[in-house]
Amino acid sequence: MTALFLILAAAVTVDTGGIAVLPLPDDALAARYRGQQTLTVAGHAIVGVPLDAAPGAREVDIRTTVGQRAITFEVVAKDYPEQRLTIANRRQVNPLPEDLERISRESELQRAAYARRTPVRADLLPFEQPVEGIYSSPFGLRRFLNDQPRSPHSGLDIAADTGTPLAAPAPGTIALTGDFFFSGNVVYIDHGGGLVTMYGHLDSIAVEAGDEVARGDVIGTVGATGRVTGPHLHWTVSIQGVRVDPVLVMEAFERIDTAGDSRGD
Ligand SMILES: [Zn+2]
Repeated sequence: MTALFLILAAAVTVDTGGIAVLPLPDDALAARYRGQQTLTVAGHAIVGVPLDAAPGAREVDIRTTVGQRAITFEVVAKDYPEQRLTIANRRQVNPLPEDLERISRESELQRAAYARRTPVRADLLPFEQPVEGIYSSPFGLRRFLNDQPRSPHSGLDIAADTGTPLAAPAPGTIALTGDFFFSGNVVYIDHGGGLVTMYGHLDSIAVEAGDEVARGDVIGTVGATGRVTGPHLHWTVSIQGVRVDPVLVMEAFERIDTAGDSRGD
């Protein structure tokens, strides 16, 4: 049984920008990746793989009641498509010198929000999509704005009308809100365990830093603030500082949640 488990675990491959979802043995006490305790959800270690990660083998160290063991997975480079956008407001593509101080202040606030480490919530699942709508831009696109290369798309864009309410996907603490140069009106939610979600381009914000939110609580409304071509939600999911594909996170969490529900039947 143990040997079979190890063979299966070793076969796990994870795309850059994806997540490793590793079932932990029943006697696991802790899982660590690169020296940090992993996000652990319903008996699974969840590890985010950066878009720019080098391909190759990775190890998650598991401490059990009887000792240490490792679970491995393999990072595979995913070739994300290009996206070319035309932004009418050129200042949003090539900021003026006076914008740079604001941009750097906001990126420091963002970095601190993604770096938060609070205890993981026991009631993290189900993890629900914050708003219904068409996926107008998937995660990971290699972006060119007005023909200039920019950072890859760090979230999922969901198109919806301005004013559509946005619901918290799971319980958490509001880590940060603000009016940012690129992302417009933003809300960051800390769900614990290094899982932080971000909502950009909001029309209105309904929460303040420090608020506790429950799953389904309205945190604001869809809008077109900041650097956009139309109203949509930009939704980022970060796992221990690594931005990953929100669709993969929703799918993985649903699989885990469903498996957990049927376990006792
Ligand atoms: Zn976006």
